[in-house]
Amino acid sequence: MLPANMHFIERDWLCANHILFTHPDEPATLVDSGYEARVEGTLGHLDALLGEAPLGRLLNTHIHSDHIGGNASLARLYPGLSIIVPEAEVPALEAWDRPEHMLSYADQRCEPFAWQDTMHAGDTFRLAGADWMVLASPGHDMGSIVLYCPAERLLISADALWENGFGFVPPQAIDPEPLAAQRKTFDLLEDLEVRLVLPGHGPAFRDFRGALARARAKLEAFAQDDLRIARSVVRGMFIYAMMWRERLPLAELPDYVRRIGIHRDYNAQFFRLSDEAYAHWLLKSCCDSGQLAVVDGEIVSLDRGGGRRSAA
Ligand SMILES: [Zn+2]
Repeated sequence: MLPANMHFIERDWLCANHILFTHPDEPATLVDSGYEARVEGTLGHLDALLGEAPLGRLLNTHIHSDHIGGNASLARLYPGLSIIVPEAEVPALEAWDRPEHMLSYADQRCEPFAWQDTMHAGDTFRLAGADWMVLASPGHDMGSIVLYCPAERLLISADALWENGFGFVPPQAIDPEPLAAQRKTFDLLEDLEVRLVLPGHGPAFRDFRGALARARAKLEAFAQDDLRIARSVVRGMFIYAMMWRERLPLAELPDYVRRIGIHRDYNAQFFRLSDEAYAHWLLKSCCDSGQLAVVDGEIVSLDRGGGRRSAA
């Protein structure tokens, strides 16, 4: 299904998937580096596929923590590594950890890193002996890109398109631009010929047209209902944070939702509950869907990666 020297490494929900290119005439190139707390797993995959060969380039599709979390470690391990980020992400990287970056604001961790180069829509990379185009895919992240190989009809779609959905967009009351941009990104993807999609999360899939139709339907349902987006985002962020935290004392949850910006601000704007009532709703909702549980007075994550996907 994939050209020689191209490897799709499916991770879980905490880490975005990687694509590794190991063509002998090119610098070994990795797309996305996973989440910081799982960097050992990332290094294990690279070790198995690269052996003694160095990693030459790292391309980041966008700057969410599950896509850039291994950058700093990889830069230390491979001194000649060139990290290439979308040009449109540079202001957010320079400002580091603004609320819209969803790091500390959403209770996510990521070590800062230095980048060596930027990429723009229209740029082309030679990867596994074929040309790959950089396409802007704003929406879920306004600076994000996808990579498309016309000759092979392959799409590295990051969080712009999954088999059943796409990465969250914020409620329109917070910022109307991402949802509108995501709709335009689907229009742009619609024009591509794709035989296999390599998404940021979940297995590779062939049903590109079906996935686009499902994603569009979900986006239009969200477009009608900001509260539905708000619920989906805070649930997704809490489940995600619990995946790397693994456990949290139940008694600390009201303080947690007061302290973590996305819960504090979304509650104030959309739900208007007391910290205790919001904490109760959030936990019940995540337990009812089977992703969290309370065991011996602690909230524990039951989702090791195969669960429903709404954050990323
Ligand atoms: Zn993302």
